[in-house]
Amino acid sequence: MKYELKGKCVCGEVKYKIIEKPLFTQACHCKDCKVLTGSSYVVNTSILDNSFFLIKGKMSSAKLTAGSGKPCKVFFCNSCGVFVYADYDTAIGRLTVRTKTLEDANMFPPQAHIFIKDKDPWLNLEKNQNCFELMYDAEKTWPEESLKRYKEYLKTKK
Ligand SMILES: [Zn+2]
Ligand SMILES: [Zn+2]
Repeated sequence: MKYELKGKCVCGEVKYKIIEKPLFTQACHCKDCKVLTGSSYVVNTSILDNSFFLIKGKMSSAKLTAGSGKPCKVFFCNSCGVFVYADYDTAIGRLTVRTKTLEDANMFPPQAHIFIKDKDPWLNLEKNQNCFELMYDAEKTWPEESLKRYKEYLKTKK
């Protein structure tokens, strides 16, 4: 069966699709994500970089420094400025899509919350959620199936 997820910016100039099941979805509570979103945290979905296709629209990019201290390039709509995805130097073979730009965003609730040390004090996270002070170890946190798919893909990149 053909897999397809569709997403767009707020003005609709930029439309994209993802043709393979995403790997992992996480919420980041770090200070930069608060500024970038104007909110308490961001929800990001990690996908294989060959599964993303821009359907229409023009995007610009900016170079930022990620929480890891390594560079990251963010891509946003030229018309409305909505941040659609990011390419982290540390995430080889992957892109990080802003989950809420997906039509079916509710299919992807956060599987982990990171940078909890910067979490807004008035925000209550349920006890059973996967919360991490900073970052997690993907080997222990990602579903087996996603890890396997990612590792197989990395082999093809060499
Ligand atoms: Zn963050
Ligand atoms: Zn737009």
